[in-house]
Amino acid sequence: MKAFSYLTAKGEPCIGIETGDGLLNFTRLWHYFKEIKNFPQAPDLPFLQLMVELDYFSGETFDQVLAAVREVRSLDDLIIREPFTWQVPMQRPTKILCLGRNYRAHAAELDNTVPESPMYFAKVPSSLLPHQGAICIPAGIGRVDHELELALVIGKRGARIPAEKAMEHVAGYTIANDVTAREMQREEQKKGKPWTLAKGIDTFCPIGPWLIPADLLPDPHRLAMELKVDGEVRQKGNTGEMVYKIPELIAYISRYMTLEPGDILLTGTPEGVSPLQPGNRVECSIEGLGTLENLVISGKGE
Ligand code: MG
Repeated sequence: MKAFSYLTAKGEPCIGIETGDGLLNFTRLWHYFKEIKNFPQAPDLPFLQLMVELDYFSGETFDQVLAAVREVRSLDDLIIREPFTWQVPMQRPTKILCLGRNYRAHAAELDNTVPESPMYFAKVPSSLLPHQGAICIPAGIGRVDHELELALVIGKRGARIPAEKAMEHVAGYTIANDVTAREMQREEQKKGKPWTLAKGIDTFCPIGPWLIPADLLPDPHRLAMELKVDGEVRQKGNTGEMVYKIPELIAYISRYMTLEPGDILLTGTPEGVSPLQPGNRVECSIEGLGTLENLVISGKGE
């Protein structure tokens, strides 16, 4: 079961799910479920972040709703047949936290060593870009790299979360591309400045297409990863190669920052980062999570 947020051809926000019957409009399915179960006071669910915030997001919920509605009516008219626009899985995270140098071979390829503790930085929510959106490279900023990463979404608020409890705070998993203005980043580093600009440019955080409920992906640390540019494989790895694993990452950051439902964590990139050019088609794939696809275009200069 894979879930996604989308806009209908009429511009209406909806949640969709992929099932054996094809793509279904879950927002309408939920509406029928409320009628069947007789709780009209329950809120509508037009996008995934609301579902996460209300703690409804799980494979179990999707199964229950599907089964209950299927018993009393056909799902035929809920199949998404019209063209639609993909939306990012989380539209208003309070933060997007990212790991630097969390794969040994990637740290080495940029002449860096693995840090002694998780090396966190942040991307800004305005850099989010949905599946099939265009990565826009501003003119004159030099080399821009792709970075394929497993991303997770926080489902339950928490501070000082112990590693043993950390996985209970994960709502689901998706794919992200931590697009990086590499030359800007190197210049900033040399001057002792943070990486905020190099990592936070508009469209530099493609994410999606699906959000997979955590209860359907019990082991996120053994997923094959592959990134292609114009059909050519550039990055290949496995989430098992992460230096700091998800429980440690959540325990570490939540000592300092309260994690909120909808927050996004990018877990680092394997080796093989390389430059992107306008016209490139980037495909980010992770086993079981699908393929995030974006075209690269050039933006205007200053
Ligand atoms: Mg990265």
